[in-house]
Amino acid sequence: MNSTPTLFARSTAIVPGGVHSPVRSFKGLDMTPKFFTKGQGAYLYDTEGENYIDFCMSFGPLMLGHQDPQVKASLSKALERGWTFGTCEPYSLELAEYLVEKINFIEQIRFVNSGTEAVMTALRLARGATHRNKIIKFNGCYHGHTDAMLIKAGSGLAGTAQASSAGIPEGIAKDTLILELGDKASVQQCFAHSGEDIAAIIIEPLPANNGLLKQDYEFLKFLRKITKENGALLIFDEVITGFRIGFGGVASKAGITPDLVTYGKIIGGGLPVGAIAGPKKLMQYLAPIGDVYQAGTLSANPLAMVAGLETLKQLTDETYAKIEQYSASLSEIFNKWFHEWNNGEFNNYKIISESSLFWIVPTDTATNVNEIPKTLTEDFRPLFATLLDKGIYLSPNAYEVGFVSLAHDETVLKDLTERLWH
Ligand SMILES: *Cc1c(COP(=O)(O)O)cnc(C)c1O
Repeated sequence: MNSTPTLFARSTAIVPGGVHSPVRSFKGLDMTPKFFTKGQGAYLYDTEGENYIDFCMSFGPLMLGHQDPQVKASLSKALERGWTFGTCEPYSLELAEYLVEKINFIEQIRFVNSGTEAVMTALRLARGATHRNKIIKFNGCYHGHTDAMLIKAGSGLAGTAQASSAGIPEGIAKDTLILELGDKASVQQCFAHSGEDIAAIIIEPLPANNGLLKQDYEFLKFLRKITKENGALLIFDEVITGFRIGFGGVASKAGITPDLVTYGKIIGGGLPVGAIAGPKKLMQYLAPIGDVYQAGTLSANPLAMVAGLETLKQLTDETYAKIEQYSASLSEIFNKWFHEWNNGEFNNYKIISESSLFWIVPTDTATNVNEIPKTLTEDFRPLFATLLDKGIYLSPNAYEVGFVSLAHDETVLKDLTERLWH
């Protein structure tokens, strides 16, 4: 097997930046990304035969760890039946019924292939159902890479916006209003100015794609109330929090019923799946019943449906309690190490965590983008390199959260302690 530098050189020759999703490129870390050939339990194995405790976990989907035996067995069985039909089949029905039964505010669901697609469909549905154009999005929330969501705050008044990527027409940017997390007054202002044209507010109810920016449930409840009063929809993007912050995501935990919810990541158990769900009266706007178009050649792919269902079936109160206990131990282990390692080299770091999500950051608290330390990436570089050297793999970007899985058990945590202090 070729070594990592050779593989990366070959990759950069024929793939932009050598990667198929930008965060994988270790950009800002001054390092060549590792190539991994295998994942097993809580561990990743690289091309040079080294293993790492994996806290990236494919950026979230692997709630049970790599190669969970039950998911693997179900996938093997599914392989015997073929891997795509493009027809009605019972596998997506089983997953849909499981979800509708378990999550009380979901009456109908449509499966797509990614979180991005789920959001794209949710926004179109919100606009189709309300006959309005504008969407409120919060600074620091990530909703995938659909045009309407690659928008950042403009330099003018609250709510003005500009594209955060090249290639997005102004016409699209002007229909996305960007506000700061937690800022009720600007939400009120927006509805006062353009309430008649606001189709929806979309939010990650626990923003976890730009650090972990915990929100007061009271703010989420305020969003629920103001959307209802103004005939706009509330969309919870639970692609990362769904089935992780408990089975019903933040919505169930906070006791807030969004109009639409988007899922991804865990719902496919590590295969590509996204979903949009909500009450029947809204979901009926989707084709072929309604006039909001949506489709997908590989949507509800039978392998992905089986991996998703087998994963979700293992997520019980008992497993959530276990994972949260692993997560709490992990925080303790890291916090002690930050404090004591190498005469306090990483003494400024803390772990901010919620359930099985954690963020390593040099501050006690951050609830919106303005509270994130400006030197985050610079500071992260030596920490990431030190941990990698010790066989501990974090997401290769300071703004990405870490993930604890059911595979990060006592044995792995003991190994973590040993690696840290080695
Ligand atoms: C990951 C993520 C997305 C995008 O999902 P993809 O499957 O990467 O397209 C959207 N929203 C949230 C909250 C996410 O965490």
